Amino acid sequence: MNAEIIAVGSELLLGQIANTNAQFISKHLADLGVNVYYHTVVGDNAARLEEAIKIAENRAQLLIFSGGLGPTKDDLTKETIAKHIGKELVFDKTALASIEDYFVKTKRTMTENNKKQALVLEGSDVLPNDHGMAPGMFLKKDNRFYMLLPGPPKEIQPMFVKYGFPAIQKQMTSKDVIVSRVLRFFGIGESLLETKIEDLIDAQTNPTIAPLAGDGEVTLRITCKHDSVEEADKLIAKTEEEIFARVGEFFYGYEDTTLMNELSHILLKKNLTVAAAESLTGGLFQKEITGIPGAGNIFKGGIVCYTNEVKHQILQVKESTIKEHGVVSEQCAKELAENVARLLNADIGISFTGVAGPNELEGNPVGTVYIGIAKSGEPTKVEKLALSGTRAGNRVRSVRYGQYFLLKMLEDK
Ligand code: ATP
Ligand code: MG
Repeated sequence: MNAEIIAVGSELLLGQIANTNAQFISKHLADLGVNVYYHTVVGDNAARLEEAIKIAENRAQLLIFSGGLGPTKDDLTKETIAKHIGKELVFDKTALASIEDYFVKTKRTMTENNKKQALVLEGSDVLPNDHGMAPGMFLKKDNRFYMLLPGPPKEIQPMFVKYGFPAIQKQMTSKDVIVSRVLRFFGIGESLLETKIEDLIDAQTNPTIAPLAGDGEVTLRITCKHDSVEEADKLIAKTEEEIFARVGEFFYGYEDTTLMNELSHILLKKNLTVAAAESLTGGLFQKEITGIPGAGNIFKGGIVCYTNEVKHQILQVKESTIKEHGVVSEQCAKELAENVARLLNADIGISFTGVAGPNELEGNPVGTVYIGIAKSGEPTKVEKLALSGTRAGNRVRSVRYGQYFLLKMLEDK
């Protein structure tokens, strides 16, 4: 089955709101194995809506409409569809009763146009609106399906999940399920990752592998269509193994996890605490780690050591280090990490010192960053980065790398 989503509303065309309803429906249809080939947006205009319907009918079996089911003049979705497919609009008793009930309960006066919301396409299955007044509809005509849903996200989302999705599922001839798994990678660029697994991507039809880059990391979604969930899982696991053989060292977690999330798990598991000394990142690492519930078990505290004075007087970086190597240096990162761990009595000290930009510092180009990790009983590690982003981007990226280096260091043991 393939589908087209038609969002009706002039406010979408004017750029006042984004078409999140189409995004929401699309995501769910993907899980069902329904191919969405087109998203259409059309204003509150009957002639143009009808034009959009005609086009969609030529290229989709399932037409899903969002918006325009309300009581006002500009709400004309069901009227236009009714006219186009030659169906009457009839009052739905249940919907009418629940609208009347709503007005009694809220002690408001019901107007004639509110009744209009209880009008449905004759012969359609009515999808109840548990969070508003206008019901949705599902109708089959000439081997095509029409689903009409209300515009407000707080109405369309629960309606679709509870009534729309199962109604479509019932019509599907294939009983295949779609199973997918997301793998998250860091520290490798999208193009390099893709090159390393290019042959796998090209050769796969089921499961398929889809890369997606964003925010300094790359994800791969492995998707499998099968009539058995267990078999789909097995096929996905096999593909995953092949991917790991190539780029496993950059993998850090599944689905919606984050580096900080994974890091917090491993710290907790190993019963380790962290302290942070942050110069260019100004506390971003500490903000993120304290965003984790129960952070008190893994995080001791930290110091934002933005000036040389604080680096020296509070964090005890040697004067000679600053003089000879500068604050953007391996030596400074090392002392910061070691000293903050010692001063705050933590198992691990992490430090960030570098040049966020836009101006260079001590002759170091923008994006030069040193990250120190001092762990008791082990030699201190310092990693050097050469980032190429904006000031804001470099600060965030530095924190990500810090989380990644620490995570990888702890994973190995
Ligand atoms: P109502 O009864 O509230 O009039 P309706 O079914 O007639 O609902 P619209 O009038 O088209 O729907 O839209 C109502 C509101 O829902 C919009 O102002 C907007 O906030 C939101 N909305 C509409 N379409 C979308 C969409 N495609 N994506 C996200 N939000 C939307
Ligand atoms: Mg409306």
